[in-house]
Amino acid sequence: MKADVLVIGAGAVGTAITRELTKYRLNVICVDKREDVGGDCSKINSAIIHTGYDDAKPGTLKSELVVSANPQYDKLTKDLDIPFKRIGAILPAITDEQFAQLPEIKEKALKNRVYDDEYLSKEKILEIEPKHKTPMLKAVCLFRERV
Ligand SMILES: Cc1cc2nc3c(=O)[nH]c(=O)nc-3n(C[C@H](O)[C@H](O)[C@H](O)COP(=O)(O)OP(=O)(O)OC[C@H]3O[C@@H](n4cnc5c(N)ncnc54)[C@H](O)[C@@H]3O)c2cc1C
Repeated sequence: MKADVLVIGAGAVGTAITRELTKYRLNVICVDKREDVGGDCSKINSAIIHTGYDDAKPGTLKSELVVSANPQYDKLTKDLDIPFKRIGAILPAITDEQFAQLPEIKEKALKNRVYDDEYLSKEKILEIEPKHKTPMLKAVCLFRERV
């Protein structure tokens, strides 16, 4: 079998690359050492579409890719008919130590070009999440985190 491109590994990354390459006049083959697609990590991940607020070092390619990928999920999930919820995420500080870390988290988010996160008071968190039982001091809300 002849191919212009051979993609090795049919996890989230390999299948996404393969899908993109099929938009061109190319013979693309994606292979996997296992009997099915879906990958190793890809099978077990938590399904959070990150904004990139803290999972990458600012200025790195990873940071650039995570931040630029987030808005693409609206179209991608529609095209692939995948359930997609824009629920946001709340990072609550429960202890004094966690409370002290919130400015650092916000600063890193800014450096990663995630500009729309916000501090929330505990009153505001309870307004958004009335069933939240754990006592907390304050939180950072990441509006664009999704599942
Ligand atoms: C517990 C957990 C939770 C996570 N939660 C999230 C999350 O919420 N959000 C998020 O964005 N990311 C999350 N991640 C990270 C994310 O799952 C991975 O970054 C992503 O799945 C990696 O995809 P991949 O295609 O590179 O790897 P994999 O999914 O591991 O795919 C690699 C594929 O390559 C195949 N392969 C390997 N070697 C060969 C070979 N020699 N020949 C042929 N095939 C081969 C494997 O069989 C596999 O199918 C999480 C990861 C873990 C472990």
